[in-house]
Amino acid sequence: MSDVLSSIFSMKTFFLIIVLLASTAGPTYCWGFYAHRQINYYAVFLLPPEMIGFYKKHSGFLADHAVDPDKRRYAVAGEGPKHYIDMDSFGEEPYDSIPVYWDAAVKRYGEDSLMKRGIVPWWVNRMLLRLTRAFRDRDAAYILKTSADIGHYISDAHVPLHACSNHNGQHTNQHGIHGFWESRIPERFAPVAFDFVIGRARYLERPQHFIWARVLESAAAADTVLKTEKSLSQIIPEDARYAFEERNGVVIRQYSSFYTQKYHEVLDGMVERRMRQSIYAVASFWYTAWVDAGQPDLDRLDSVVFTDSDRLEWDSLNRQWKADEIKGRDCH
Ligand SMILES: [Zn+2]
Repeated sequence: MSDVLSSIFSMKTFFLIIVLLASTAGPTYCWGFYAHRQINYYAVFLLPPEMIGFYKKHSGFLADHAVDPDKRRYAVAGEGPKHYIDMDSFGEEPYDSIPVYWDAAVKRYGEDSLMKRGIVPWWVNRMLLRLTRAFRDRDAAYILKTSADIGHYISDAHVPLHACSNHNGQHTNQHGIHGFWESRIPERFAPVAFDFVIGRARYLERPQHFIWARVLESAAAADTVLKTEKSLSQIIPEDARYAFEERNGVVIRQYSSFYTQKYHEVLDGMVERRMRQSIYAVASFWYTAWVDAGQPDLDRLDSVVFTDSDRLEWDSLNRQWKADEIKGRDCH
């Protein structure tokens, strides 16, 4: 390599590392793209025989579009609050005075205030109604789009830091912990160690209460997520906590494999448990919507036809997503 080329190369590498260093403090990805895709994909296998054929045929779509709601966060105003709820902003546990139903919650807190705190459990129920309607209308394309979307929101409700205002450790000097828990650990351990063979979906008699129970579990676990990492960081020096690793041909600074392993160990399987619970919940919501719609015969649906406006929307989300990629994101 000539001197000129080599100096251009090293400047480029230097610049890239600087950009990525700057971005490690901020960007986090809801359950990570990897985990969202896995959850929607594995949920298919919990469905009853009447549903599994249709869902299996479209499992690639359900996995690919599991992350559409995260892409929308950067393109659609008002999307963000659908992914989280700051439970600590409502006071202290057990949070049993928060209305489970949206209308009652709006009456009590006002819509603006709820949008500031996040609305994920109520939004999951809104999506359940949409999915039920899609099944009633025998609208194959809408069933798929809504199934992919609701899978995302349900999964977000299972993430402890989506139920806590200190969602990226910003109040406790733990910047980056959001992605550490929900991206780094699943990406590292799910392919080799997590077990996603999970019984069957069940009909949810009270879906609103079901999703609230998951949110309360998330809120209760947030403290452990933060405190265990804080304690670990006090006994493991910084140079062992971070490492430069190549990812998709790019060198990035991230939590080291060693530190990821240690954090996973002290969490005692929490990430795997929440992923498994997410898979079970997603399948159960899909199943519940289908039952409530009168169990339509999915093998006799018209073929799936996505409209031009669907394609335009996906193109535009992808464009915006790529354009925003280098800026860093703050996912909550
Ligand atoms: Zn999300």
